[in-house]
Amino acid sequence: MSQKRILMVVLDGGGDRPVPEFGGKTPLEAAKTPNLDALASMGINGLLHPIGPGIRAGSDTAHLSLFGYDPYEVYTGRGPFEAAGAGVMGRKGDVAFRCNFATVNDEGEVTDRRAGRIREGTEMLASALDGMEYNGIKMTVKAGTEHRAILLLHGDNLSPAVSDVDPHEAGAHFLRCEPLDDSPEARRTAEAVNYFVEESWHILRNHEVNLRRDRDGKAPANILLPRGAGMFPDIEEFGRRYRLRAAAITGVTLITGIARLLGMNVIEVEGATGGIDSDFRAKLTAAVSAMDKNHFVFVNLKAPDIAGHDGDAGLKKEIFERIDTAFSVVVDSMKERDDIILAVTSDHSTPVSVMDHSGDPVPLIIAGDGVRPDDVAEFGERAAMTGGLGHLNGRDLMPELLNLSGRAEKFGA
Ligand code: ZN
Ligand code: ZN
Repeated sequence: MSQKRILMVVLDGGGDRPVPEFGGKTPLEAAKTPNLDALASMGINGLLHPIGPGIRAGSDTAHLSLFGYDPYEVYTGRGPFEAAGAGVMGRKGDVAFRCNFATVNDEGEVTDRRAGRIREGTEMLASALDGMEYNGIKMTVKAGTEHRAILLLHGDNLSPAVSDVDPHEAGAHFLRCEPLDDSPEARRTAEAVNYFVEESWHILRNHEVNLRRDRDGKAPANILLPRGAGMFPDIEEFGRRYRLRAAAITGVTLITGIARLLGMNVIEVEGATGGIDSDFRAKLTAAVSAMDKNHFVFVNLKAPDIAGHDGDAGLKKEIFERIDTAFSVVVDSMKERDDIILAVTSDHSTPVSVMDHSGDPVPLIIAGDGVRPDDVAEFGERAAMTGGLGHLNGRDLMPELLNLSGRAEKFGA
């Protein structure tokens, strides 16, 4: 059986609910999307429950599920994926946190959770904190974009079951990190975090970067506040699991981190920002060219999720129209070559009426040579309900794609 290649495009947060200003259509249904409609006509369609019916998926857990992993098994928190996305690779058992450089007053009350959205000097601040040790636990600190940073705890007997230090609101005192269960590991981890936070306050308040910020009337980045603890999982690499070479094109640190942790080759594309101004065409063009060297290429387009969180139906519709225009490169290559199995779907719904992720399923198209097409002629939530795939869970997607690409193992004789 000849093997085909797989292209998976995820329109982040693409699913939605009826919007009154669109006469009850969803933003995707209201958008003019001739290219996506053509792909829906070519292919077989269905509704996908990213993790399971009614489960409100995060982007991280949903992507793990779409890649065929059980998020309940491998996911303990966002930290390790953010860390990997920022280039901090821990080992199995290490615990990572997302952090903010923040401003606290002399009493320890957080006056600015983002230290005046600091842009310069955070690398110097991070290196002043990097390399601390406490109780045999080594601490790695790396600056991310703007006020963001990563803290990695490396050592034995750590636990991700600890609370956030970031109070998530200005005006409150920064919190003590507390163990969330009775294990000695959680207590040991919380102690290390509290030591780290106190030290960060002590070191950063007198750091030259902050003395200069004080003089310039800017909020000093005088403490680092960890949150979102998670343990680096013992995870089988994607390429090994499915015996293929995989590449990823994303613009968001979290998703890049997932791809890196799964051992995918992350391709940087100029103009790919992960924002609403991202160059969709550049990403999809890069994905199509990456199909030559890889057996599996994954693309995440983040913009629909951002419009969903903003509650902006008009913007979400417009983003789908821009994405659709960019999809002409995919439609063209599907016409030219018969060795691509394409999946277009979302990692979850982010309804503009909810302004957050919901548990509603998302439309899915699978197209390519050998696919049995159904009567669906449009890419949208309602149209997908009548499709030949019916309802799938996120973890069913990889087996479907492996089967259609001639990569599935036979079960039995
Ligand atoms: Zn998402
Ligand atoms: Zn989101």
